[in-house]
Amino acid sequence: MEYISTRGQAPTLNFEQATLNGLADDGGLYLPTSWPALSQGEIRGLQGKSYPELAFSIIQHFTCDCVPDDTLKELVHDACAGFRHDAVAPIKQLDDQLFLMELFHGPTLAFKDYALQILGQLFQYFLSRRGHACTIIGATSGDTGSAAIAGLKGLSSVELFMLHPHNRVSDVQRRQMTTVLADNIHNIAVDGTFDDCQNMVKSLFSDLDFKNKYALSAVNSINWARIAAQVVYYFRAAIALGAPEREISFSVPTGNFGNVLAGYVAKQMGLPIRKLIIGSNRNDILTRFFESGSMERRDVQTTLSPSMDIGISSNFERYLFELVNHDSDRLHGLMREFQEEGRFNVGRDMLNRARQDFSAYRLTDEDTRKDIKTTYEATGETIDPHSIIGVSAARKEGFEEVPIVVLATAHPAKFPDAIESALGRKPFLPDELSEILTLEERCRNLPNDVSTLMKFVESSLASDNYPKR
Ligand SMILES: *Cc1c(COP(=O)(O)O)cnc(C)c1O
Repeated sequence: MEYISTRGQAPTLNFEQATLNGLADDGGLYLPTSWPALSQGEIRGLQGKSYPELAFSIIQHFTCDCVPDDTLKELVHDACAGFRHDAVAPIKQLDDQLFLMELFHGPTLAFKDYALQILGQLFQYFLSRRGHACTIIGATSGDTGSAAIAGLKGLSSVELFMLHPHNRVSDVQRRQMTTVLADNIHNIAVDGTFDDCQNMVKSLFSDLDFKNKYALSAVNSINWARIAAQVVYYFRAAIALGAPEREISFSVPTGNFGNVLAGYVAKQMGLPIRKLIIGSNRNDILTRFFESGSMERRDVQTTLSPSMDIGISSNFERYLFELVNHDSDRLHGLMREFQEEGRFNVGRDMLNRARQDFSAYRLTDEDTRKDIKTTYEATGETIDPHSIIGVSAARKEGFEEVPIVVLATAHPAKFPDAIESALGRKPFLPDELSEILTLEERCRNLPNDVSTLMKFVESSLASDNYPKR
């Protein structure tokens, strides 16, 4: 299977190269030239498999010749070993037709673990096979950083530098990163905002000498392997509820469009998905798009669901590529317009097609609190401020005989203040989180300055005897 860039001007890659490269050289995103298709019989054959077995069966369609079967089985098995629930992604019933798939049983209690645990294993496998090491640099406003650290800690081929804005992530989120003391993990608290962190990372990547010298790479949500790993739990839920015989819809609290895009991929692979329902908070660029056909950038606002506080949904570009029938010139034009004018419009036909696959709703903070409370009263479940947006979007969509599975993207204990403001009490803290409150932290505080960051990276790598091979 080959991977092409949405913008059509970067070389075609195989799975290994697409995984290690992340973003394409032409600024586009990699995706497969065609979707692997499973017959009804093949989907039926997946019934009864354990999560690691299922993950192998699905991810194999994307890795093809790049990873031998036995190796992939091992990698997936190791990736799942750090999850705290035997089912890995258990499903609860909230109502007749409403289900909740808990994607928060990984090491950092948010759904990003489901992809980053596997991505860490893939990086280690590919790099050690090549005899290379690489330096991964990223910026986080919370969940991504801890999940990346948990996925990459202790790996011998990877050094990870993770920037977060000093005093602008929650205590729990910071401690989930800074209490990991593995030698290859370097936490940096920047005196600035998340955008400052991201700009510093971009500057490092645009310095090509630096980039090549230290083999910089990224594990952010545009990395194709993360999408591939997320396809697995869509199959898991659909099959548990009767696929391929029975249709199903999914409701997904959405920010960067990475999670829900995996649902679209599952549908293209043959899973009988009726609708993919997008839930957004007041940062509703996607919801406005599905209302009007116009994608328009606005300033980011702070909400109760911080992991969905984004201005641009970068993974949407992959779906847009589908909507323009893989016409990369047309796509390039739309992205240029967006870059220059902060907006583009797709017109009626494309909008109508998009609405067959997706519907979209938004929730204010006030309704977020209210719905956490009413859902708790009706079901006894404490639902975090991201996942509740999925629950509310599902209810707004309605059921029409098709069950809806909400993807619960975080454990409520990660957002104690939001839960307290809704329920008048703090959520129950699982052992994993109460432990880190007393552990030693390691983190370097740096000013908002690229050359200082470069020096820090260089000196850290030198003291680690980089390169290692
Ligand atoms: C990252 C994240 C999201 C948004 O996921 P996208 O793939 O960016 O749409 C939603 N909820 C939580 C808890 C997250 O960490």
